[in-house]
Amino acid sequence: MSRIAYVNGRYVPHQSARVHVEDRGYQFSDGVYEVCEVSDGYILDRTRHLERLDRSLSELAIGWPVEREALGRIMIEVAARNRVRDGLVYVQVTRGVARRDHPFPSADTRPALVVTARSTDRAAFAAKAEEGVGVITVPDTRWDRVDIKTIGLLPNVLARQQARDAGAAEAWLVDEDGIVLEGAATNAWIVTGEGELVTRPAVSGILRGITRATAIDTAAALGLTMVERGFTVGEAKAAREAFMTSATSQVMPVVRIDGAPVANGYPGEITRQLRGAFFAHAEKIAVRGSLALEKP
Ligand code: PLP
Repeated sequence: MSRIAYVNGRYVPHQSARVHVEDRGYQFSDGVYEVCEVSDGYILDRTRHLERLDRSLSELAIGWPVEREALGRIMIEVAARNRVRDGLVYVQVTRGVARRDHPFPSADTRPALVVTARSTDRAAFAAKAEEGVGVITVPDTRWDRVDIKTIGLLPNVLARQQARDAGAAEAWLVDEDGIVLEGAATNAWIVTGEGELVTRPAVSGILRGITRATAIDTAAALGLTMVERGFTVGEAKAAREAFMTSATSQVMPVVRIDGAPVANGYPGEITRQLRGAFFAHAEKIAVRGSLALEKP
């Protein structure tokens, strides 16, 4: 089955999907994005993702390319046309196409919208979660406004590559005081010896992860104690459990930090509980009910 992408108003074969060379996303990283998880035929937490997109757009004074409700429908449509049951929907909005010049282009420049979707291997993810993954810690080299989900991800790319080169799944970004901020593309969590969940407050310095927010809801529903505060690399290494959250990895146990095992080196019980209960507490919108699947 061939993949379909949505590009500025048209559903096109993924292979021939194109944007203009003077798209400001391409030239300046002048754009924002969202990644939504699709799990068991449902897009998870679409409302929260569209809320965050709205905030990212308004922080950068980029307009909505289409109405919010229309984008919600396009996301379902792209997932359905690509027959995604488990996978990801990617949404990118840039300031649009204009002659290369740093200041904003004229007000009538239309923001550009691309939506793609792809399937992921559910069984492979489940197997990974059974084993847990390793992370390395690296200095954070990003700009101050990491609360905006921009497509300018070069420090994140370099950190993730460093992790891969070290045989780890993720790089945890650490500030000058030795506090873990978040991962290159995930939020970072630990469970203390007292069984308390800890993750950094999402006021500044980290992305306000959607999976993080739903994990907080899930923890509350499970009656787990949680506190939003920074934790050091040392505290993480001595923690009872550690894990990371993101739309691409959901709740993923972290069992090694800088090569050393966390506790006994196996996924912890609280992490397992959170992962197990997460789907039930996420907002779910069916992909199967879309027009494309009803009228193949
Ligand atoms: N932190 C960063 C830097 C990210 O890039 C991401 C996701 O891409 C996350 C955290 C996790 O956010 P979410 O749960 O919304 O996927």
